[in-house]
Amino acid sequence: MAELRNIPGTFDVVPAESGPWEVVVATFAQVVEAAGYGLLLTPTFEDISVFKRIGDSTDVVRKEMYDFVDKGNRHIALRPELTASVVRAFIQHRPATPWKAWTGGSQFRYEKPQAGRFREFHQLDIEAFGSADPDLDVEVIALGWEYLRALGVTQVELLVNSLGDGKCRPAYRQLLLDYLLQHRGELCDEHRARLEENPLRVLDCKKAPCRAVVEDAPRQLDHLCDECAAHFARVEEGLLALAVPYSVDPLLVRGLDYYTRTAFEYAGRGLESAQNALGGGGRYDGLVEAMGGPDTPAVGLALGIERILLALEAENTLPSGRAALDAFVVDFAGGANARDLTARLRASGLRVDRAFDGRSPKAQFKAADRSGARLAVVVGPDEAAAGKVGVKDLKSGGDQLTVAMEDLVEELRRRLG
Ligand code: AMP
Repeated sequence: MAELRNIPGTFDVVPAESGPWEVVVATFAQVVEAAGYGLLLTPTFEDISVFKRIGDSTDVVRKEMYDFVDKGNRHIALRPELTASVVRAFIQHRPATPWKAWTGGSQFRYEKPQAGRFREFHQLDIEAFGSADPDLDVEVIALGWEYLRALGVTQVELLVNSLGDGKCRPAYRQLLLDYLLQHRGELCDEHRARLEENPLRVLDCKKAPCRAVVEDAPRQLDHLCDECAAHFARVEEGLLALAVPYSVDPLLVRGLDYYTRTAFEYAGRGLESAQNALGGGGRYDGLVEAMGGPDTPAVGLALGIERILLALEAENTLPSGRAALDAFVVDFAGGANARDLTARLRASGLRVDRAFDGRSPKAQFKAADRSGARLAVVVGPDEAAAGKVGVKDLKSGGDQLTVAMEDLVEELRRRLG
């Protein structure tokens, strides 16, 4: 029988390698909960219409969604991103605003798998609803920045832009389209064919022909209405005030259509250029209403866990994660002590493991070494009979000391410092 394997674009994270994941997630929770964001969990799959509303012209929705008809004849999609589900939940539960939530988990996109690009990947995300205040944009951007810094990512550049709003974007869109139509023949194949559908997408195209055309294209930043210009100025002022370094990138449009005004991205400078975005986000003041809810301004950000881990790896600052075990119980007096002592020591708050299957002392000591535990708690027939246990330092070596059973926890704590 052929060996069963995970499918391309997906991966396992085995326990020996999952420590950094735990740190990446826990640090995020710590940073954003300290700013008032509460954990929100939404389903991994939704009715496909939830995602269709975020923009039919985006690649994520048009080409990359995993969708299927379930046994109840519902058209379902695995989520390709989080914002749509969070907006759906916001509309459904009608919480009081401002409403600040954080979430995360698997996302699914049928993309060509390559380094840093997967078909099932993982995001961490915050979304804040109910305020149009540019200081909230600053809070969201700065939290992402602070988080990356807290993890040890230093080779990252924050890019910000304004995409205008319903008032000034249509005129800019037309201006851009007029310009691009004059250069249609010079664009890449895809954008030549689909120019009218979404001319802004050309600004984001990584292909050389489009990049050349775009160099002289009109820029939204030069065509903002007064309100959008004031909003952007306040965002810049806030980033300066909080000492968050940034660059204005007038070509930053991001892959999803729903953004208004502020858009931003954390570009990893230690990563290969095509897959260098660690995360990004922006304001989406029209999306809640477009999805059937009340007119509600909102802003959010999403970060890719795999990209963050790659960035940490590139900088040699991958956190090791999980603390090692404190002790490993080695029992060659029948096994009852291993069972009872392990439970007792764990109940006292220590990190403890043991071997099973009545293995030889040698095999148990080997398992103890492999576990990474600092100390071995050793029970042979003599110790068991005398109500004592041996304690041995597995890291520094040295002799095994014998202590009374009732003094064990205290002795371990003393040794562990
Ligand atoms: P987006 O929703 O496209 O703005 O993506 C937000 C972040 O998720 C990106 O900056 C990446 O860090 C990550 N990301 C997006 N697509 C993938 C993918 N296919 N594989 C791994 N990470 C991804």
